[in-house]
Amino acid sequence: MTVWFTLAFKYAVIAIVALSFGMWLGPVAGWAVLCAGLALLHVVHIGHLARLERWLRAPDPDRMPDPWGAWGIVFTAVYRALRRAAQERESVVKELELFTRAAQALPDGIAMLDSGDQLLWCNDTAAGHLGLQSARDAGLRITNIVRVPRLAAFLQGRQPEDTLEYRPAHHPGQLLSLKVIPFSDGRKLLVSFDITQIERADTTRRDFIANVSHELRTPLTVIHGFLEHMVAAPVLPAEQARRHLDLMVQQSDRMLKLVDDLLMLSRLEGGDSPRREERVDISAMLHALAQDAQALSQGKHQIDVIVDEDAAITGGNDELRSAFGNLVSNAVRYTPPGGRITLGWRKDAAGRGIFSVRDTGIGIAAEHIPRLTERFYRVDRGRSRETGGTGLGLAIVKHVLLRHQATLDIHSTPGAGSEFSIHFPPWRSIVDMPHLEADVA
Ligand code: ADP
Repeated sequence: MTVWFTLAFKYAVIAIVALSFGMWLGPVAGWAVLCAGLALLHVVHIGHLARLERWLRAPDPDRMPDPWGAWGIVFTAVYRALRRAAQERESVVKELELFTRAAQALPDGIAMLDSGDQLLWCNDTAAGHLGLQSARDAGLRITNIVRVPRLAAFLQGRQPEDTLEYRPAHHPGQLLSLKVIPFSDGRKLLVSFDITQIERADTTRRDFIANVSHELRTPLTVIHGFLEHMVAAPVLPAEQARRHLDLMVQQSDRMLKLVDDLLMLSRLEGGDSPRREERVDISAMLHALAQDAQALSQGKHQIDVIVDEDAAITGGNDELRSAFGNLVSNAVRYTPPGGRITLGWRKDAAGRGIFSVRDTGIGIAAEHIPRLTERFYRVDRGRSRETGGTGLGLAIVKHVLLRHQATLDIHSTPGAGSEFSIHFPPWRSIVDMPHLEADVA
């Protein structure tokens, strides 16, 4: 039923009643009834209008007046329109919440600025990066709250670079990179990225290249010096020539060892598990390592092995031999003649296999221990070089252990000796299976 139809019906009823009275009691009575009917209808409309006006001041769909007739239709239409608007508002609010949550979940900082660089909103990451508080600082000009040098010029595009790097005063160890992304009507997104790790990786890479170059340059300089000398004086006494050649062989050996260690390291860093998982006969390996140690020591140390004959684990045989070998050769190189070196294998209560090398050598001061597995970190550079060290041995050990889910423990007392032990997870131990030979993977 339409409003027009309902109204027409009411007016028609009044007209018919007035006409009936007119015919019954004469025209005056008819006009009087018509006027009274119209006046009554008018009063009813005014009443409904007043209720509508009152209700619209605080429209609550649940407390809507419930009139009848044409006003009922109007009120129902208003009610429906309001319900629709409320539902749309609810879904817009939900979507906004979703976008806000998505922006909060981003690992990068986002601050939204208006055309006057005033803060509209920022996520928690941006708040942390820039020292902002979304609620407190909203509406303030960003350059007045964030003390970043050159920020104003950067926001206005007056900087040649498209990113601005800076260290926040409240977090000096952090390096941030800012980027401006314009969007609708002069508004901007100020995006902040934490590039501390990238910078650290860059520094590590630069240091590494500098270290490798330095390590290679030293023996190369020696070889080059001798060669130049031989070119300048081609006829040298046989004994001197022999000495020069010996020294050149020694230096080129050192370069070869360094390059071999570098290749080994890059191979190890290329994956997170041994290329071949096989049965590793720990007992045989320890005895072989003890023999190598004897050869390196040239009888100057006492070398013992404590191992169960059937000790075995799964892993990469060559990698483990290289890692164990580095620890053993370090023990020999950093233990003065007459010292004692013990290679051992045992299992703890949790079934973890533990390889250990104990020496009575020079020991290591506590402050150096956490850094020993860094590439080229040495406590005493001169001593390391003298004994043929490359500074990469413990870095290789670290990477081999990572690939075997094993950990390294170092205990040392300066002047008394050190113990390096490798702890393997229990599942790498092979129990009572000496017959298992080739690959187990
Ligand atoms: P390097 O080739 O110099 O021996 P490593 O990476 O094997 O390099 O060892 C790093 C440093 O750790 C060594 O330079 C040395 O100062 C120290 N170090 C390693 N093992 C021992 C040990 N058994 N006793 C004393 N110092 C050690």
